[in-house]
This record gives sequence, structure tokens and C-alpha cells, in this order.
Amino acid sequence: MTNENQTKPKAGAIIVPVTPFEQNCTLLWCEVTRKAIVIDPGGEVPKIQAAIKQSNVTVEKIWLTHGHIDHVGGAAELRDALNVPIEGPHLDDKFLLDSVVASGARFGFVGVRDFAPDRWLSEGDQVSIGELTFDILHCPGHSPGSVVYFNKELRFAHVGDVLFNGSVGRTDLPGGDHATLIKSITGKLLPLGDDVGFICGHGAGSSIGQERLTNPFLTGEM
Ligand SMILES: [Zn+2]
Ligand SMILES: [Zn+2]
Repeated sequence: MTNENQTKPKAGAIIVPVTPFEQNCTLLWCEVTRKAIVIDPGGEVPKIQAAIKQSNVTVEKIWLTHGHIDHVGGAAELRDALNVPIEGPHLDDKFLLDSVVASGARFGFVGVRDFAPDRWLSEGDQVSIGELTFDILHCPGHSPGSVVYFNKELRFAHVGDVLFNGSVGRTDLPGGDHATLIKSITGKLLPLGDDVGFICGHGAGSSIGQERLTNPFLTGEM
């Protein structure tokens, strides 16, 4: 038996892979209002704008999971183009947003700018789009200021580069620390529940349960 109110999806999302790092720029929207956010516009802004147009949604905010160039390279440009605020990451990634141009030069990104978000995010903060509300989890380790966006009702999280399908974020970049990363995952992400599905910064998404059971970095095999 189905109830129309229960089966109607409350959110929609599409992934737009951008930059040579194939970063999962995510366009996510509230189905009720068609209001949307762009998570991690790392570059190729015209490609992101085409996806927005095709999805027929109104972007009201840009959310950032952390300050690495492949996640933020197009953020300032997209903010100017859409005239919307940038929320996140955590203040501890300020040193990365202050050196976008420098890291862009190192990795071959042109036309990028240093910038500050309109709002830094901290553990326990909430952000919203349309009728959807997300809790902020501060999950350092991959970068000091990495944040995860969690929607309790949808049983959905966007985890950036903290956790991947079968792997975890690299910790050899400035401010990275493997023990801190594992502590963030085991202390904050696993308790969200096995049924929580996630989109991550690169590659296919997964669920907390699948990773708890099979991810070699969490099962003790690595
Ligand atoms: Zn990263
Ligand atoms: Zn990344």
C-alpha cells in the first residue's frame, strides 16, 4: 500500500564531476520549493550552471565541505554569477581559502581567487534549503576544517573527502592527520546509523553501514 505523501521524494540531487580530480560537485534541491544548493563548485562553472538550468531549480546558497582547490576553485566565480552566499567550511580551513590562487597555480587551475565564505560553520550548526535542514558535523583529519552535512529526515549525508566508498580521505596534505580522521569517522559518522546514505567528494557514494562492515580503514585491515 502506498501513501502519496510518503512516497513523494522530498529532495533531488545530481552530481556534476568537475576538475581533473573528478570532484563530485553536487546540485541538491528541495522538491517542494525547487530551491537548491551547490555543494563544492570546484571549477568548470559553466558546466555547473548548465546543470542548474537543466534541473530547473533556483540556487540560493553554495555550501563547501572543505577548502581544497578541487572543491572550492569555482566558488567565488559562482557566488558572483548567482549572487548567493557561501556557507562553510569550518574556520580551521581559512588557511586553505586564503591560498586558493597559490594552490591553483600548483595544480594548474586558472582564474581562481582567494575568498572568505559568508558564514563559517561549526559543530552543531544547522543550515537549510527550502524545507530541508542539515546538521553540521565538524570532522577534521582530511583537512582541519572539513564539515559534513547531515539531513536526519532523509537519512542522507554529504561527507566531502572525509569518507569514501571503500576508503577514507588522504591525510598527507597540510593540516591532515590520519588518527584524527579515523576519530571523526568513528566518533561522528558511524553513530549516524547504518541506514544513512552518503555522497562523497570523489567516486561512487555508499552508506554508513556498508562502510562500517567493509571499509578496510574501519574494519582494522588497514
Ligand atoms: Zn580534499
Ligand atoms: Zn577532493
